[in-house]
Amino acid sequence: MAGKNRDSPPWTVPFLSLYFTLFTPRWNTMSASTPSVSLDVFRTLHRIHRQLTDLQEQLDRGPRHVSAGQSSIKHREEELAKLREKTKSMRVAADQKQLQLKGIEEKIKDFRRKLNAAASNREYQILKDQIAADEMAKSVLEDEIIEALEQVDQFQPKISGSEAALAATRDKAAKTQAEVQKQQPLLRADIERLTAELRRYESELPATVRETYQRRARQKGEDALAPVVDECCGGCNQQVPINVQAEIRLGHPTFCKTCGRLLYLPEA
Ligand SMILES: [Zn+2]
Repeated sequence: MAGKNRDSPPWTVPFLSLYFTLFTPRWNTMSASTPSVSLDVFRTLHRIHRQLTDLQEQLDRGPRHVSAGQSSIKHREEELAKLREKTKSMRVAADQKQLQLKGIEEKIKDFRRKLNAAASNREYQILKDQIAADEMAKSVLEDEIIEALEQVDQFQPKISGSEAALAATRDKAAKTQAEVQKQQPLLRADIERLTAELRRYESELPATVRETYQRRARQKGEDALAPVVDECCGGCNQQVPINVQAEIRLGHPTFCKTCGRLLYLPEA
């Protein structure tokens, strides 16, 4: 088997290597001028970047949660104020009807007194008719008052419910605020500690690479790095040539030619 086709297969690999070596400048590998870096450094840098992203998100979420709690309280307060305002106007309407009722009752009493002193049948009949009309109006008004007071009563549970909801919302918002106040300094301390750790690992990158990487890290955070996954850049999915993968495996810092991420091999 080894004796046959001696010409083609053994030459294929060296030829491809030469081909890729000639074209590696496109891939911005630093193999020629820079020392290799432990593969763990790249992996750790990316891990720390991801942790920092997560911590920063938690840090940013805190004030948003507090502010959402304050908005909920405001919403509940407005809801309760509207319900109270509505009850108040219903009570005022019922009170006005009761005043009207008193007025009619006084009028009826007055007519009855006059009725006793009526000088003629005609005057007597007119007073009788007026009393009957007012009695009718009184009856209608009494029904309306009962209905208005029933409405006020029926409205009371809505107010109690709204008050309870407001109390629960205030309670929840206070707990959220306390939790955020407790967590913020811890998160900041974690971020500070991890940033220092990040700087330590970054110092292991060759100076020529570090500057480019740090500029991208400032802009993109964790997206400054990407693992090679199934022979592709884990950031943009662009295929990474085999020879470039070999460079990466040797710890030669390499940026993806498409997205600019610093590539590394994940642990097998
Ligand atoms: Zn890429």
